Amino acid sequence: MAKKDYYEILGIDRNASDDEIKKAYRKLAMKYHPDRNPEDKEAEEKFKEIAEAYAVLGDADKKQRYDKYGDAGMSDDFFSNDDIFSNLNDIFDDFFGFRRRGGEGNYYQTYTQKGTNLRIRIKLTLEEILTGVEKKVTLNKKVVCHVCEGIGAKSEASIITCPTCRGTGRVTQITNTLFGRVQSTNVCPNCNGKGKIVKEKCEHCGGTGQEDSKEVVTIKIPPGALQDMQITLKGQGNQILYGVPGDLIVLIEEEEHPLFKRDGLNIFYEHYISYPDAVLGTEIEIPILNGKATIKIPPGTQPGKLFRLRNKGLPDINSSQKGDFIVSINIHVPDKITKEEKTLLEEMKKMKDFNVQRQSSGKSLFERLKEYFY
Ligand SMILES: [Zn+2]
Ligand SMILES: [Zn+2]
Repeated sequence: MAKKDYYEILGIDRNASDDEIKKAYRKLAMKYHPDRNPEDKEAEEKFKEIAEAYAVLGDADKKQRYDKYGDAGMSDDFFSNDDIFSNLNDIFDDFFGFRRRGGEGNYYQTYTQKGTNLRIRIKLTLEEILTGVEKKVTLNKKVVCHVCEGIGAKSEASIITCPTCRGTGRVTQITNTLFGRVQSTNVCPNCNGKGKIVKEKCEHCGGTGQEDSKEVVTIKIPPGALQDMQITLKGQGNQILYGVPGDLIVLIEEEEHPLFKRDGLNIFYEHYISYPDAVLGTEIEIPILNGKATIKIPPGTQPGKLFRLRNKGLPDINSSQKGDFIVSINIHVPDKITKEEKTLLEEMKKMKDFNVQRQSSGKSLFERLKEYFY
């Protein structure tokens, strides 16, 4: 086994007092706590190392042996997980007055408190939905108070055993009923079951153990996000002193686009051409989501004609499927014309091909779209 310097691990010098050792340990243990660093192997290793160092230096007898013989004085049983974690539980009980909850054994199951979730809305343009985007947002979140390090008390000495329940967190009541005396056990109302109370509160946080902090987070939004979709970032919510931080819940909102309408994966766009262009045919350049596209308008194009650009719509968030970009052609009718134009139009009106014979089919754009797709 490599030689370990427990003093170095805790960042203290050899003649640190018991109090200094405890303090250094608590600070580091909170920083590297697995609940605070989910899926971070390095933090987990560090956390174990810190717990191990404290298992030795926090115990007068082991510390003495370690000071005298170093690593050689430490037999393996010092480092069993049970030892480290029971020690850890002690210290958290000591400092924070939190009782263990949940099952036994697995350390991660023993503490189930969770900070509150934070919710934010993010507005996305269709262009951002097309490609996916990373958004930086500033969060106002609750973090552990830096003055009291979350204990909510002025000092450790001002956390005392609850006098009502004598530290058990429970009170027993005896009630007289028709059937005799009934004994019931309830959570202690004085300490809310914690077994400890704070005599003097931390002035910075008023005893809550939390303070406000601004934090910039980058949120990765995959291509194809949908309106009202929720993205959960685990552990990015409000922190609490002991337990898991809450989650950050991001609600997606789609911004209205000035030109395009979305229908599922498809994008609709209405493009106006001139009457002569509709009759004679032309080539037009239209805006699409990620640039421009060219469409050939054949001679005799009717208003409402649809052109489909395959796979130029939005991607499906769950598959490789892509929607289409659909252009509906409309005819621009000028509302102001010159004398010369008027004369020409009146001439045209008399000609045979400009005489309206066909009546409208009466179908709405919506009906035509339906026909197109189904
Ligand atoms: Zn505080
Ligand atoms: Zn109590």
